[in-house]
Amino acid sequence: MTENALTIRGLNKVYKNKVVALDNIDLNVGMGDFFALLGPNGAGKSTLIGILTSLINKSAGKVQIMGFDIDTHFSCAKSQIGLVPQEFNFNSFEPLIEIIKSQAGYYGLDRKSATDAAEDCLHKLDLWDKRKHTPRELSGGMKRRLMIARALVHDPKLLILDEPTAGVDIEVRRSMWELLSKINGEGKTIILTTHYLEEAENLCKSIAIIDHGKVIIDTSMGNLLEKLNEESFILYLQYPLKGTPILKDFQFKLINKKTIEVTLTNQKSLFDLFSLLNDQDITVLSIRNKSNRLEEMFIKLTSNKSN
Ligand code: ADP
Repeated sequence: MTENALTIRGLNKVYKNKVVALDNIDLNVGMGDFFALLGPNGAGKSTLIGILTSLINKSAGKVQIMGFDIDTHFSCAKSQIGLVPQEFNFNSFEPLIEIIKSQAGYYGLDRKSATDAAEDCLHKLDLWDKRKHTPRELSGGMKRRLMIARALVHDPKLLILDEPTAGVDIEVRRSMWELLSKINGEGKTIILTTHYLEEAENLCKSIAIIDHGKVIIDTSMGNLLEKLNEESFILYLQYPLKGTPILKDFQFKLINKKTIEVTLTNQKSLFDLFSLLNDQDITVLSIRNKSNRLEEMFIKLTSNKSN
């Protein structure tokens, strides 16, 4: 079992109001993995993270973190996890170095080790110059880095991030992606929840999708992307169409006279499509993906259940 960073068996959570938030979940997260946990609102992601980080009590099931059972080896299991919650929850008036040192103290590091670990984290997260500043003086991106620095100070093996890039601009998001890849490359196992499927596709090696408290997909990212056999494109035409084009074997719809949406399956390529259009003297000016492939599949998988 210990080659998994996280092993979950038959995990259930029923809240007092009888809502079944997790319904017999089984999941493995391998050591060193970068794991995406996706699901629509209300799927059970926060409940699952809450149980892993001992903020929420489970109703039934087994959870092992780096081989430590959360029921029988609670403190060992807890010390293996670093959590980056969605909301900033530090004291905005305390200097960064103190925020991180107190967290290290909370995990039982003595003063000297806490100071060393805090300084090390500030360097790693590129916050050293700001160590005497307070969070109020930081940019949004720096605040997020502070949350990560604090989560890493006790050197956990498993880092859990709950929507780390929610509401940040694209530049900060990209630099977060770089940072998280680097942390993963240095050997930390990472689990993240995100609403940005592009984020999961870019960063993660494995993916689980939960919906209504059940795991509906649990596979490698590569495997999932390979299975996505449909991709939709929007084609912008040079001239207005005179009639409906003949695109046998393609699903398509006319958005307007100069725009067509075409869905490709595994059997057909863009080359096939362009040849057909070319034969009918239809010139394509530009083309774009309708949405990210993972997004399309996610919508298909969950749309008929989540209303
Ligand atoms: P997600 O994080 O995927 O949006 P949650 O874990 O927050 O999902 O919620 C899963 C389900 O449990 C939802 O139906 C939600 O309304 C319910 N729920 C969450 N927290 C509580 C709670 N403290 N008491 C009762 N029901 C809850």
